[in-house]
Amino acid sequence: MEKKPFVSKEKLEEIKKEIPTPFHIYDEKGIRENAKRLKQAFSWNKGFREYFAVKATPNPFIMEILQEEGCGFDCSSYTELMLSDRVGAKEHDIMFSSNATPDQDFELAYKLGAIINLDDFTHIDILKDLTGIPETISCRYNPGGEFKTSEKGNVMDTPKDAKYGFTHDQIIEGYRKLKEYGAKRFGMHAFLASNTLTNDYYPVLASIMFKTAVEIKEKTGVSLSFINLSGGVGIPYRPEQEPNDIMVIGEGVRKAYEEILVPAGLGDVAIYTELGRFMLAPYGALVATAIREKHIHKEYIGLDACAANLMRPAIYGAYHHVTVMGKENAPCDHKYDVTGGLCENCDKFAVDRMLPKIDMGDLIYIHDTGAHGFSMGYNYNGKLRSAEVLLKPDGSFKMIRRAETPQDYFATFDFTEKYNFNK
Ligand SMILES: *Cc1c(COP(=O)(O)O)cnc(C)c1O
Repeated sequence: MEKKPFVSKEKLEEIKKEIPTPFHIYDEKGIRENAKRLKQAFSWNKGFREYFAVKATPNPFIMEILQEEGCGFDCSSYTELMLSDRVGAKEHDIMFSSNATPDQDFELAYKLGAIINLDDFTHIDILKDLTGIPETISCRYNPGGEFKTSEKGNVMDTPKDAKYGFTHDQIIEGYRKLKEYGAKRFGMHAFLASNTLTNDYYPVLASIMFKTAVEIKEKTGVSLSFINLSGGVGIPYRPEQEPNDIMVIGEGVRKAYEEILVPAGLGDVAIYTELGRFMLAPYGALVATAIREKHIHKEYIGLDACAANLMRPAIYGAYHHVTVMGKENAPCDHKYDVTGGLCENCDKFAVDRMLPKIDMGDLIYIHDTGAHGFSMGYNYNGKLRSAEVLLKPDGSFKMIRRAETPQDYFATFDFTEKYNFNK
């Protein structure tokens, strides 16, 4: 599918006058439409809810939009819990899925009344001693082995190597124990493959979880109230990739639900999702300016953004499509490495990419950065985090996070006289 920016060059130039590049920009219209489609795809399930994975895009203004679309929030840390609380999420609007969880995180999740999704069997007693077991509790399942969508299907991921979750026997014993400790409502969660580009991932995952739910009922008498399919539905980062069809995915889960859960008397289990990438990635972009070029053994274009603003290409060689604004129809007859300025050779947004001729000052639009983009940012080389901008459905824009300043970077020395840059 051809990849087109969701914003025009003229609009970006207008924004740039107020908010210098680099910045991440988000498309409110796209976010809302996609959230509505997801809800529609699971409308057959009366308890359905998406808990947006806050770590993907932890910005309260984005979270408010998703909240208006009916989403709750999936948090993985103390600060994400604080953020969800401040956005106004209440009790079961919050899911807390963490691992190697510190005591204070459990305590805050408990205090907020969030649904706690335990990562390990030993956490049952830890939580019991710390706060007591809440009435509603969830466990994360890791069946081990390799995850495939069909017998012949390529292996999509290897849960046996993943640090998360309870084993099969532990989870059965876990529900027994939680029941004994007074829990009343139970959920199960599993996340077995990441960034999947197939309509089969959720249905196959759902079948595994639904069968396990039936077994849990038979062996422990616990009837699960909700099953959380978690994240993992991917997006096509490359133009030649086919996007997932969320309607087909919802229908596939419905079929498994009717074949497995309904006959076992589990026909009122609520389905939850916990998507991050699918909710936001395509509706965000990193906008930068080409500021330097060099011609050595290869042709390089240097941007004012770097891996500190978008880490995925540097750490996993992830592909992000690049559009040179205003040159969408020009021939891609130049081969470039498009780089940031970190003292790390992996700081390249694109390698050997065929693009139109880039001139200094051109606006460079890096696609699909709406999830795990800004949020993975860091400050190496003393680089500062960028601003975030929201493009509204009426075409106006709003800064939803300012860029960091040197004072922010030095703020953690403010306890000293000599190195307090905020004085
Ligand atoms: C990261 C994460 C998600 C979101 O994953 P996506 O691939 O962005 O959909 C959901 N749940 C948990 C527990 C996660 O760690």
